[in-house]
Amino acid sequence: MARNAYYQTTHWRSLKQSCHQRDGWRCTVPGCQTPTYRLTCDHIKRRPNVDHPTALDVLSNTRTLCGNHDAQVKELASGKRRQGGKLIIKGATVDGTPLDPNHPWRRLDGRGRVDP
Ligand SMILES: [Zn+2]
Repeated sequence: MARNAYYQTTHWRSLKQSCHQRDGWRCTVPGCQTPTYRLTCDHIKRRPNVDHPTALDVLSNTRTLCGNHDAQVKELASGKRRQGGKLIIKGATVDGTPLDPNHPWRRLDGRGRVDP
């Protein structure tokens, strides 16, 4: 299947860059064991298959995923997402706290600030 022409536009390239910068160039799945592997910018809500920017092509509808987590939710040819778009989170506690002591989310204090 040919890739949608939208993904060749400067709009997409800029959105993708902003997404990765916001997320610190790391997969946003808590406790991800491959946080910098083949990063992709994922649409949280699926965008329509059109070649121009839509209301869903905004920063708030994106997240950075590593190649492993992107593959978990990647759309099938039918347009449906694998596992209904649900991510399997390994390496995190039930509340989503990463087990990896070096994950930036582990360094957040109770107010969302990074502890020094
Ligand atoms: Zn990941």
